[in-house]
Amino acid sequence: MKDGATRADDIFLPFETPPAPGEVIEVAPGILWARMPLPVRLNHVNIWLLEEGNGWTAVDCGLDSPETRAAWEQLIAGPLRGKPVRRLVATHGHVDHVGLAGWITARFEAPFHATLAAWLWARVTYAGRDEPTSAHALEHLRIHGCDPRHIEAYARNRGPLLKLFYEPPRAHLRLKNEELIEMGGRRWKVVVADGHADEHASFVSTSGDVVIAGDQILQRISPVVGVFSGEPLADPLTDYLASLERFRGLPDDTLVLPSHGLPFRGLDVRLDQLAHHHQRRLDIVFDSLDQPRTATECAHVLFARAMAEGQWYLALAETLAHLHRLVTIGFVRREIDADGVIRFART
Ligand SMILES: [Zn+2]
Repeated sequence: MKDGATRADDIFLPFETPPAPGEVIEVAPGILWARMPLPVRLNHVNIWLLEEGNGWTAVDCGLDSPETRAAWEQLIAGPLRGKPVRRLVATHGHVDHVGLAGWITARFEAPFHATLAAWLWARVTYAGRDEPTSAHALEHLRIHGCDPRHIEAYARNRGPLLKLFYEPPRAHLRLKNEELIEMGGRRWKVVVADGHADEHASFVSTSGDVVIAGDQILQRISPVVGVFSGEPLADPLTDYLASLERFRGLPDDTLVLPSHGLPFRGLDVRLDQLAHHHQRRLDIVFDSLDQPRTATECAHVLFARAMAEGQWYLALAETLAHLHRLVTIGFVRREIDADGVIRFART
Protein backbone atom coordinates (compact mmCIF):
# COMPACT_ATOMS: atom_id res chain seq x y z
CA MET A 1 0.00 0.00 0.00
CA LYS A 2 1.27 3.46 -0.88
CA ASP A 3 2.00 6.13 1.71
CA GLY A 4 -1.25 7.99 2.27
CA ALA A 5 -3.51 5.05 1.63
CA THR A 6 -5.52 3.75 4.52
CA ARG A 7 -7.67 0.67 4.73
CA ALA A 8 -10.98 1.63 6.24
CA ASP A 9 -10.55 -1.00 8.96
CA ASP A 10 -6.93 -0.51 9.95
CA ILE A 11 -4.34 2.03 10.88
CA PHE A 12 -1.34 2.63 8.68
CA LEU A 13 2.20 3.39 9.82
CA PRO A 14 4.07 5.51 7.25
CA PHE A 15 7.32 5.55 9.28
CA GLU A 16 8.20 2.18 10.75
CA THR A 17 11.60 3.08 12.19
CA PRO A 18 11.80 5.89 14.73
CA PRO A 19 14.66 8.40 14.75
CA ALA A 20 17.65 7.61 17.00
CA PRO A 21 18.24 10.01 19.91
CA GLY A 22 19.56 13.31 18.56
CA GLU A 23 18.31 12.58 15.03
CA VAL A 24 15.12 13.59 13.26
CA ILE A 25 12.71 12.40 10.59
CA GLU A 26 10.60 14.89 8.63
CA VAL A 27 7.07 13.50 8.94
CA ALA A 28 5.26 16.32 7.10
CA PRO A 29 6.57 19.46 5.42
CA GLY A 30 8.20 21.55 8.15
CA ILE A 31 7.56 19.05 10.97
CA LEU A 32 10.45 17.05 12.39
CA TRP A 33 10.04 14.03 14.67
CA ALA A 34 12.63 13.48 17.40
CA ARG A 35 12.66 10.99 20.26
CA MET A 36 13.83 11.40 23.82
CA PRO A 37 14.75 8.45 26.04
CA LEU A 38 12.82 7.52 29.21
CA PRO A 39 14.34 5.32 31.92
CA VAL A 40 11.23 3.12 32.27
CA ARG A 41 9.60 0.29 30.34
CA LEU A 42 7.92 2.81 28.03
CA ASN A 43 11.38 3.88 26.96
CA HIS A 44 10.75 6.94 24.81
CA VAL A 45 8.69 10.07 24.27
CA ASN A 46 8.20 11.70 20.88
CA ILE A 47 8.71 15.42 20.46
CA TRP A 48 7.91 17.57 17.42
CA LEU A 49 9.98 20.40 15.99
CA LEU A 50 8.13 22.81 13.72
CA GLU A 51 10.22 25.05 11.53
CA GLU A 52 9.60 28.78 11.73
CA GLY A 53 11.40 31.37 9.60
CA ASN A 54 13.78 32.34 12.37
CA GLY A 55 13.84 29.28 14.57
CA TRP A 56 11.80 26.35 15.84
CA THR A 57 8.71 25.66 17.84
CA ALA A 58 9.20 22.55 19.97
CA VAL A 59 6.18 20.57 21.16
CA ASP A 60 7.26 18.82 24.39
CA CYS A 61 10.90 18.19 25.28
CA GLY A 62 11.39 15.09 27.45
CA LEU A 63 12.47 14.79 31.08
CA ASP A 64 15.64 15.95 32.78
CA SER A 65 18.23 13.21 32.46
CA PRO A 66 21.81 13.18 31.13
CA GLU A 67 20.58 11.11 28.14
CA THR A 68 17.86 13.62 27.24
CA ARG A 69 20.22 16.57 27.59
CA ALA A 70 22.74 14.80 25.35
CA ALA A 71 20.04 14.15 22.74
CA TRP A 72 19.08 17.84 22.82
CA GLU A 73 22.73 18.88 22.44
CA GLN A 74 22.89 16.68 19.34
CA LEU A 75 19.71 18.23 17.94
CA ILE A 76 21.04 21.72 18.57
CA ALA A 77 24.40 20.91 16.99
CA GLY A 78 22.86 19.22 13.95
CA PRO A 79 19.25 18.99 12.79
CA LEU A 80 18.17 22.40 14.17
CA ARG A 81 20.70 23.93 11.73
CA GLY A 82 21.87 26.70 14.03
CA LYS A 83 18.41 28.13 14.54
CA PRO A 84 17.13 28.60 18.11
CA VAL A 85 14.05 27.18 19.78
CA ARG A 86 11.75 30.22 19.76
CA ARG A 87 9.06 28.69 21.92
CA LEU A 88 8.25 25.50 23.77
CA VAL A 89 4.69 24.21 23.66
CA ALA A 90 3.48 21.60 26.17
CA THR A 91 0.87 18.96 25.53
CA HIS A 92 0.51 18.37 29.27
CA GLY A 93 2.38 18.67 32.55
CA HIS A 94 3.72 15.14 33.03
CA VAL A 95 7.43 14.85 33.66
CA ASP A 96 8.17 12.71 30.59
CA HIS A 97 6.87 15.53 28.40
CA VAL A 98 8.01 18.72 30.14
CA GLY A 99 10.59 17.70 32.76
CA LEU A 100 13.27 19.59 30.86
CA ALA A 101 11.09 22.59 29.94
CA GLY A 102 12.78 24.96 32.37
CA TRP A 103 16.19 24.11 30.92
CA ILE A 104 15.09 24.61 27.29
CA THR A 105 13.21 27.84 27.93
CA ALA A 106 16.11 29.30 29.95
CA ARG A 107 18.71 28.28 27.39
CA PHE A 108 16.86 29.89 24.47
CA GLU A 109 15.01 32.59 26.45
CA ALA A 110 11.92 31.07 24.90
CA PRO A 111 8.36 31.35 26.23
CA PHE A 112 6.51 28.31 27.55
CA HIS A 113 3.03 27.73 26.10
CA ALA A 114 0.85 25.46 28.20
CA THR A 115 -2.63 25.12 29.60
CA LEU A 116 -3.01 26.45 33.11
CA ALA A 117 -3.39 22.96 34.59
CA ALA A 118 -0.33 21.66 32.72
CA TRP A 119 1.85 24.50 33.98
CA LEU A 120 0.55 24.18 37.57
CA TRP A 121 0.93 20.40 37.49
CA ALA A 122 4.59 20.77 36.54
CA ARG A 123 5.20 23.45 39.16
CA VAL A 124 3.47 21.46 41.93
CA THR A 125 5.15 18.17 41.03
CA TYR A 126 8.52 19.87 41.04
CA ALA A 127 7.84 21.65 44.35
CA GLY A 128 6.85 18.37 46.01
CA ARG A 129 9.56 16.16 44.59
CA ASP A 130 11.42 15.75 47.89
CA GLU A 131 8.39 15.55 50.15
CA PRO A 132 7.80 12.23 51.89
CA THR A 133 4.81 10.23 50.62
CA SER A 134 1.74 11.72 52.30
CA ALA A 135 -0.38 9.82 54.81
CA HIS A 136 -3.34 10.70 52.59
CA ALA A 137 -1.81 8.95 49.58
CA LEU A 138 -1.14 5.83 51.67
CA GLU A 139 -4.66 5.87 53.10
CA HIS A 140 -6.05 6.04 49.54
CA LEU A 141 -4.23 2.79 48.79
CA ARG A 142 -5.39 1.16 52.04
CA ILE A 143 -9.09 1.91 51.58
CA HIS A 144 -8.92 0.36 48.12
CA GLY A 145 -7.61 -2.92 49.48
CA CYS A 146 -3.98 -2.58 48.47
CA ASP A 147 -1.45 -5.18 49.65
CA PRO A 148 0.32 -3.73 52.75
CA ARG A 149 3.70 -4.65 51.22
CA HIS A 150 2.86 -2.53 48.21
CA ILE A 151 1.81 0.36 50.42
CA GLU A 152 5.08 0.09 52.32
CA ALA A 153 7.08 0.09 49.09
CA TYR A 154 5.15 3.09 47.83
CA ALA A 155 5.81 4.94 51.10
CA ARG A 156 9.54 4.50 50.49
CA ASN A 157 9.52 5.42 46.78
CA ARG A 158 6.73 7.05 44.82
CA GLY A 159 8.24 6.25 41.46
CA PRO A 160 11.35 6.44 39.32
CA LEU A 161 10.46 9.57 37.31
CA LEU A 162 9.43 11.95 40.06
CA LYS A 163 12.81 13.61 40.51
CA LEU A 164 13.58 14.08 36.82
CA PHE A 165 12.13 17.57 36.70
CA TYR A 166 14.29 20.61 36.06
CA GLU A 167 12.63 23.61 37.73
CA PRO A 168 9.67 24.33 35.39
CA PRO A 169 9.28 27.79 33.87
CA ARG A 170 8.09 30.45 36.31
CA ALA A 171 5.63 31.79 33.75
CA HIS A 172 3.50 30.39 31.00
CA LEU A 173 1.57 31.66 28.00
CA ARG A 174 -1.79 30.07 28.42
CA LEU A 175 -3.23 27.69 25.84
CA LYS A 176 -7.01 27.71 25.75
CA ASN A 177 -9.50 25.26 24.32
CA GLU A 178 -10.50 25.86 20.70
CA GLU A 179 -8.16 28.78 20.21
CA LEU A 180 -6.05 28.96 17.06
CA ILE A 181 -2.27 28.95 17.18
CA GLU A 182 0.22 29.29 14.32
CA MET A 183 3.08 26.80 14.37
CA GLY A 184 5.47 25.92 11.56
CA GLY A 185 3.45 27.64 8.82
CA ARG A 186 0.25 25.85 9.79
CA ARG A 187 -2.70 27.06 11.79
CA TRP A 188 -3.80 24.67 14.55
CA LYS A 189 -6.88 24.38 16.69
CA VAL A 190 -6.04 23.67 20.32
CA VAL A 191 -8.16 20.82 21.71
CA VAL A 192 -8.00 20.85 25.50
CA ALA A 193 -9.32 17.62 27.02
CA ASP A 194 -9.26 15.73 30.31
CA GLY A 195 -8.96 12.03 31.02
CA HIS A 196 -5.24 11.28 30.82
CA ALA A 197 -4.08 14.58 32.31
CA ASP A 198 -6.01 17.64 33.39
CA GLU A 199 -6.22 20.12 30.51
CA HIS A 200 -4.20 18.08 28.04
CA ALA A 201 -3.65 20.01 24.79
CA SER A 202 -3.72 18.39 21.33
CA PHE A 203 -3.33 20.36 18.12
CA VAL A 204 -5.43 19.79 14.99
CA SER A 205 -4.23 21.57 11.85
CA THR A 206 -7.06 23.61 10.36
CA SER A 207 -6.37 22.06 6.96
CA GLY A 208 -6.90 18.65 8.57
CA ASP A 209 -3.60 17.15 7.39
CA VAL A 210 -1.90 16.68 10.77
CA VAL A 211 -2.92 16.12 14.40
CA ILE A 212 -0.36 16.50 17.19
CA ALA A 213 -2.14 14.18 19.59
CA GLY A 214 0.07 14.18 22.67
CA ASP A 215 -0.95 11.34 24.97
CA GLN A 216 -4.69 11.75 24.28
CA ILE A 217 -4.57 9.33 21.31
CA LEU A 218 -1.68 6.88 21.23
CA GLN A 219 -0.84 4.49 18.42
CA ARG A 220 -0.43 1.12 20.09
CA ILE A 221 -1.06 1.39 23.81
CA SER A 222 -3.95 3.19 25.46
CA PRO A 223 -2.99 6.21 27.56
CA VAL A 224 -3.20 5.84 31.33
CA VAL A 225 -6.64 6.95 32.49
CA GLY A 226 -6.49 6.60 36.24
CA VAL A 227 -7.86 7.76 39.59
CA PHE A 228 -5.21 8.90 42.04
CA SER A 229 -5.26 10.15 45.63
CA GLY A 230 -5.16 13.82 44.59
CA GLU A 231 -8.72 13.55 43.25
CA PRO A 232 -10.06 10.35 44.81
CA LEU A 233 -13.61 10.64 43.43
CA ALA A 234 -12.62 11.61 39.90
CA ASP A 235 -14.27 9.99 36.88
CA PRO A 236 -11.58 10.55 34.24
CA LEU A 237 -12.78 7.76 31.94
CA THR A 238 -16.07 9.54 31.19
CA ASP A 239 -14.04 12.64 30.27
CA TYR A 240 -11.61 10.58 28.22
CA LEU A 241 -14.28 8.75 26.22
CA ALA A 242 -16.07 12.02 25.51
CA SER A 243 -12.80 13.59 24.33
CA LEU A 244 -12.29 10.91 21.67
CA GLU A 245 -15.45 12.04 19.88
CA ARG A 246 -13.96 15.51 19.43
CA PHE A 247 -11.32 14.13 17.04
CA ARG A 248 -13.79 12.53 14.64
CA GLY A 249 -14.56 13.67 11.13
CA LEU A 250 -11.04 14.39 9.89
CA PRO A 251 -9.88 13.02 6.52
CA ASP A 252 -8.84 9.33 6.35
CA ASP A 253 -5.28 10.33 5.49
CA THR A 254 -4.79 12.74 8.39
CA LEU A 255 -1.36 12.07 9.87
CA VAL A 256 -1.57 11.59 13.66
CA LEU A 257 1.53 12.34 15.72
CA PRO A 258 1.28 10.64 19.14
CA SER A 259 3.71 11.19 22.03
CA HIS A 260 4.52 7.48 22.31
CA GLY A 261 4.70 4.90 19.54
CA LEU A 262 4.69 5.72 15.82
CA PRO A 263 2.94 8.31 13.64
CA PHE A 264 -0.12 6.79 12.00
CA ARG A 265 -3.02 7.30 9.62
CA GLY A 266 -6.50 5.95 10.29
CA LEU A 267 -7.61 8.19 13.14
CA ASP A 268 -11.26 7.13 13.20
CA VAL A 269 -10.25 3.46 13.34
CA ARG A 270 -7.93 4.18 16.25
CA LEU A 271 -10.65 6.15 18.07
CA ASP A 272 -12.96 3.14 17.65
CA GLN A 273 -10.26 0.81 18.99
CA LEU A 274 -9.65 2.97 22.06
CA ALA A 275 -13.37 3.32 22.83
CA HIS A 276 -13.86 -0.43 22.33
CA HIS A 277 -10.88 -1.25 24.54
CA HIS A 278 -12.41 0.68 27.44
CA GLN A 279 -15.90 -0.71 26.81
CA ARG A 280 -14.48 -4.23 27.02
CA ARG A 281 -12.75 -3.36 30.29
CA LEU A 282 -15.96 -1.87 31.68
CA ASP A 283 -17.73 -5.15 30.86
CA ILE A 284 -14.99 -7.24 32.49
CA VAL A 285 -14.91 -5.20 35.66
CA PHE A 286 -18.74 -5.23 35.91
CA ASP A 287 -18.75 -9.02 35.42
CA SER A 288 -16.16 -9.38 38.19
CA LEU A 289 -18.61 -7.89 40.71
CA ASP A 290 -20.45 -11.14 41.50
CA GLN A 291 -20.11 -9.86 45.08
CA PRO A 292 -18.90 -6.51 46.46
CA ARG A 293 -15.18 -6.17 45.79
CA THR A 294 -12.40 -3.72 46.44
CA ALA A 295 -10.73 -2.00 43.51
CA THR A 296 -7.60 -4.08 44.15
CA GLU A 297 -9.61 -7.30 43.84
CA CYS A 298 -11.04 -6.02 40.57
CA ALA A 299 -7.56 -5.05 39.36
CA HIS A 300 -6.46 -8.69 39.75
CA VAL A 301 -9.20 -9.62 37.28
CA LEU A 302 -8.80 -6.67 34.90
CA PHE A 303 -5.01 -6.43 34.88
CA ALA A 304 -3.87 -9.89 35.96
CA ARG A 305 -0.59 -9.72 34.09
CA ALA A 306 0.25 -6.17 35.13
CA MET A 307 -0.48 -7.05 38.77
CA ALA A 308 1.75 -10.11 38.52
CA GLU A 309 4.52 -8.03 36.99
CA GLY A 310 4.49 -5.43 39.76
CA GLN A 311 2.58 -2.73 37.88
CA TRP A 312 0.00 -2.64 40.67
CA TYR A 313 -0.03 1.13 41.14
CA LEU A 314 -1.23 2.04 37.65
CA ALA A 315 -3.41 -1.07 37.48
CA LEU A 316 -5.27 0.09 40.60
CA ALA A 317 -5.62 3.63 39.26
CA GLU A 318 -6.99 2.42 35.93
CA THR A 319 -9.34 -0.08 37.58
CA LEU A 320 -10.72 2.71 39.76
CA ALA A 321 -11.30 4.81 36.64
CA HIS A 322 -13.45 2.04 35.17
CA LEU A 323 -15.31 1.51 38.45
CA HIS A 324 -16.00 5.21 38.84
CA ARG A 325 -17.43 5.40 35.33
CA LEU A 326 -19.73 2.50 36.23
CA VAL A 327 -20.79 4.50 39.30
CA THR A 328 -21.47 7.57 37.14
CA ILE A 329 -23.71 5.65 34.76
CA GLY A 330 -25.54 3.98 37.63
CA PHE A 331 -24.40 0.34 37.25
CA VAL A 332 -22.30 0.22 40.42
CA ARG A 333 -22.29 1.83 43.88
CA ARG A 334 -19.61 2.36 46.51
CA GLU A 335 -19.94 0.71 49.93
CA ILE A 336 -17.71 1.84 52.80
CA ASP A 337 -17.17 -0.52 55.75
CA ALA A 338 -16.34 0.32 59.37
CA ASP A 339 -12.61 0.39 58.58
CA GLY A 340 -13.16 2.83 55.74
CA VAL A 341 -12.44 0.16 53.12
CA ILE A 342 -14.38 0.80 49.92
CA ARG A 343 -16.07 -2.00 47.99
CA PHE A 344 -17.91 -1.68 44.73
CA ALA A 345 -21.23 -3.47 44.26
CA ARG A 346 -23.71 -3.79 41.45
CA THR A 347 -26.77 -1.58 41.91
ZN1 LIG B 1 3.39 10.50 28.11
